[in-house]
Amino acid sequence: MEKLSIVVPCYNEEATIPIFYRTVEKIRNQINAEVEYCFIDDGSKDKTLSILRDLNKKSDAVHYISFSRNFGKEAALYAGLKMAKGDYVVTMDVDLQDPPALLPKMWNILHESDYDCVATRRITRRGDPPIRSFCARLFYKIINRLSDTEIVDGARDYRMMTRQMVNAVIQDGEYNRFSKGIFSWVGFHTKWLAYENVERSAGETKWSFWKLFKYSIEGILAYTTVPLYLSSVMGILMCGVSFIALVFIVIRALLYGDPAAGWPSLVCIITLLGGLILLALGIMGLYIAKIYLETKKRQIFIVREER
Ligand code: UDP
Ligand code: MG
Repeated sequence: MEKLSIVVPCYNEEATIPIFYRTVEKIRNQINAEVEYCFIDDGSKDKTLSILRDLNKKSDAVHYISFSRNFGKEAALYAGLKMAKGDYVVTMDVDLQDPPALLPKMWNILHESDYDCVATRRITRRGDPPIRSFCARLFYKIINRLSDTEIVDGARDYRMMTRQMVNAVIQDGEYNRFSKGIFSWVGFHTKWLAYENVERSAGETKWSFWKLFKYSIEGILAYTTVPLYLSSVMGILMCGVSFIALVFIVIRALLYGDPAAGWPSLVCIITLLGGLILLALGIMGLYIAKIYLETKKRQIFIVREER
């Protein structure tokens, strides 16, 4: 019999894990596979770990890893994919925002057609704060303009993959992980399912606005170097402009002499250039920071307990 691993990152999810487990257990027999749960406790500070211990005691199908601290969802997903032993692996959130009812359908698609992956995206963002959905849309617009790797708007981290694809994803041991990009970058045939946004079953979102902002910068830096080109282009343009200005000033001085005027315009030019130089340096700095972190080869996660 084939095996399906369900990878579930959990961070302070004491309220949602029991609901999640109950719901998935109910539909589990609709899938013709042996099901294995791979929970990742991402350094939770609530009762998450003890709930996972209990589930593990109750059922042979439940396994978990507990991190030594909070390493973030990306690290948790990576650990989960590494830990999963199934022929097929599905990654999903524990808050039921990724409807388990889709699991049998995903399983069937992978078995009846030539797809290697079934991914999901939400077509609405109902329930999310308006400012958050606005920024999310803007992010997808920007990154897709800049990057060759397609990052689908509204894509969830809810996807079922074949072993072959999972191995390809694990092989990519980057430190700065941006899963939506990695999944797209490794390729393979992906079928997209769309659904309406579902609100959390319980508990609260773990993503503050600031966390999401940092995550989106991460995505842009990891999947495009266009900002570096833009700063070079900006430099070239500024050189062109200053050359024209130089010619203009020389000719004007020859024709009209050199009255000492133009202090305000000089200050404007200096501050503008200073700003542009700092901007370009900053963009370079961001990439160098990523190189720095990548070359350190720090561990992506550290396990404190595993069962
Ligand atoms: N999560 C995690 N580590 C973190 C933040 C979140 O493992 O540092 C997990 C969380 O437990 C949940 C999933 O990632 O299973 C999605 O988080 P959440 O529902 O808070 O995000 P949202 O759906 O609001 O984007
Ligand atoms: Mg959620």
